[in-house]
Amino acid sequence: ALKERQTSGHLYYDEVLRSQLLEESELEKVFTKALKDGEFHIVLQPKYSLTTRHLVGCEALVRWDHPSKGLLPPSQFIPLLEKHNLLVTLDMFVLEQVCKLVRQWQSKGLPIHPISVNQSRSYLFNTHYDQSLVDMIDRYEVPHHLIEFELTESLFLNDVKHLSLVLASLRSHSFLVSLDDFGSGYSSLTMLKDVAIDVIKLDQGFLKGSDEHQRGMVVVQHIISLANQLGITTVAEGVETREQVQMLQQLGCDVVQGFFFSQPLQVAEYEALLIDDRLPSS
Ligand code: C2E
Ligand code: MG
Ligand code: MG
Ligand code: MG
Repeated sequence: ALKERQTSGHLYYDEVLRSQLLEESELEKVFTKALKDGEFHIVLQPKYSLTTRHLVGCEALVRWDHPSKGLLPPSQFIPLLEKHNLLVTLDMFVLEQVCKLVRQWQSKGLPIHPISVNQSRSYLFNTHYDQSLVDMIDRYEVPHHLIEFELTESLFLNDVKHLSLVLASLRSHSFLVSLDDFGSGYSSLTMLKDVAIDVIKLDQGFLKGSDEHQRGMVVVQHIISLANQLGITTVAEGVETREQVQMLQQLGCDVVQGFFFSQPLQVAEYEALLIDDRLPSS
């Protein structure tokens, strides 16, 4: 099986992988069958508050357990599915899994924190998309404030106005909305000015590199202080080292997520954290 690979938040279109993975003409058939056969599942990566030092929720990330290719990370199938307008189906599947989980946790009496799901650019093409999200969540009677939608800023590079309408609609239903990979595109500051959001997830790139490190940190410092003043929660993802944690803490970052604390976990492993929910002090 393929080892879980590190990926940046950016999805790339890899011709080699593509040809290995699937014949594109077969894609829809293969995908539909894989979904029906239960080859997709979600893993959950914990998020911790640096203030309270407790678990505050998690992000649901999709995996494809391919019968012959092994466990595939999103970078190997999401760009393809998106290209063929199949990603919306997968995103809806992920949302349904999340809703089912919340129901199970409710019935087990477990403490429940918000779960975030990533959303593709489907919004741009389907005007009733937000209603189908609401319908799914209401079917499982999941309280809206427990669902957070992560949208990647770069998807809307040329259409900030559209993004703000989509986000306003989601927020009017009391869902949380967050801008993923914040700072990776060029419209970030415009976004902060024009778009009402609850959370920004700082692009992993800010934490990487050594020469750029100092510069990256200056930028992060200002983004965090801007967000604070606007009442927006800041999440740093891709946190891998103790030094990064200390730095983020000094800069007043609210929430952290990354391999330093935890890999994305199987559902049962995450459930254990709902009970022992302190930030690992390692
Ligand atoms: P993302 O939303 O920015 O998710 C964070 C990615 O960073 C995840 O990769 C996660 O496993 C990885 N990561 C977490 N901590 C660390 C760390 O400390 N270091 C490093 N290097 N990486 C870390 P993953 O699971 O491979 O997902 C990649 C991207 O695929 C996601 O980026 C998201 O854009 C997309 N994606 C994943 N699941 C879904 C889904 O259900 N629907 C849609 N539309 N996109 C998804
Ligand atoms: Mg992303
Ligand atoms: Mg995300
Ligand atoms: Mg991200």
